[in-house]
Amino acid sequence: MSTRTQTAGTGTGRFGPYGGRYVPETLMAPLEELERAYEAAKTDAAFQAEFADLLKNFAGRPTPLQFAVRLTEHLGGPRIYLKREDLLHTGAHKINNAIGQGLLTRKMGKPRIVAETGAGQHGVASATVAARLGLECTVYMGTEDMARQALNVVRMRVLGAEVIGVEAGSRTLKDAINEAMRDWVTNVRTTHYLLGSVLGAHPYPTMVRDFQCVIGREAREQILAAEKRLPTHLYACVGGGSNSIGLFHEFLGDRSVKMIGIEAGGRGTQLGEHAARLAAAQGYSGARPGVLHGTYTYVLQNDDGQIALTHSVSAGLDYPAIGPEHAWLADQGRAEYAAVSDAAALEAGQLLARKEGIIPALETAHALAGLMERLSRFNRNDLVILNLSGRGDKDMDTYRRLL
Ligand SMILES: *Cc1c(COP(=O)(O)O)cnc(C)c1O
Repeated sequence: MSTRTQTAGTGTGRFGPYGGRYVPETLMAPLEELERAYEAAKTDAAFQAEFADLLKNFAGRPTPLQFAVRLTEHLGGPRIYLKREDLLHTGAHKINNAIGQGLLTRKMGKPRIVAETGAGQHGVASATVAARLGLECTVYMGTEDMARQALNVVRMRVLGAEVIGVEAGSRTLKDAINEAMRDWVTNVRTTHYLLGSVLGAHPYPTMVRDFQCVIGREAREQILAAEKRLPTHLYACVGGGSNSIGLFHEFLGDRSVKMIGIEAGGRGTQLGEHAARLAAAQGYSGARPGVLHGTYTYVLQNDDGQIALTHSVSAGLDYPAIGPEHAWLADQGRAEYAAVSDAAALEAGQLLARKEGIIPALETAHALAGLMERLSRFNRNDLVILNLSGRGDKDMDTYRRLL
């Protein structure tokens, strides 16, 4: 397939050398159409009003910023606040972006969306928004993920979506994205690809970030109201990177605010055992810059440039590349990235349940585990916002098997 690329470091959709648009010719026109629709929507008062209305009355925004009183006391370190994205309709931050792109789909006059899903949260959010807006919806999901997130498969089907299992590769998120892209290429006149994270070709990483920035905007106001000062640290888990950038972005100009993204360390540091793309300092091997799914970023790959298999207990973090803006923030040292193991995440999830009465998604539990592994670096005056990206209902089988 022929590709058109932009020169590194120039053009739109670049984060330093990362990002860009590395796609077959057939996708250039729909990506340009999407970019135009998105640019127009930014200043379209009716679009913005409907987006705000759905976030508030359908999804349940603003979400609370809750002081984690017993967790803070138990850990004896920084004051910890939880940004409760888990309380949103469908149970995770994914709905913010799904609403935005669902409205864009309608604006472009397309009757159908396709989506990929890993943990199933993005598939459920897409199916939910499709139902609300009267769009047809097809969701691609690896069969490995369908097995470990069976509840979400049923949810999508009840909502009227078609769920197609993907048997290729590792039968997880990467393979689901491949199939969703194939469907999109074939049906591009009638179909929008509702990509679920800050991945893919321009404009997706920028557009998805913008739809998720509501997290940080609210959190900033809420922490200033509660503590009369900015946080010292932000913590979030990083799969593709949408909940983390959604929290981080609003604070990028505040040099005093440290940002820490936590990746899936899986069950070991060898290639194939983890999904840690920016944690080479901890010994996680196999990540270097390359192109996956239309964007230039850090990608887990073998010496020949073949995309590596990944492992994580958490389907939502189980992806070999990371959003290009994170690659750039890491290179600049503006944000720090680290990985924690499956076991540490499971333990942290259980701790949050017992101390705060909140069972987090296993993705989210990685963020808390990352904070706990860094406790010695904090002092008592530090103030943390931890993004609670989703709730753990979908993970009950995994909790049961592994605890
Ligand atoms: C999908 C998902 C993630 C990972 O995706 P990001 O784009 O990195 O946010 C994290 N937490 C939950 C609950 C998810 O559903």
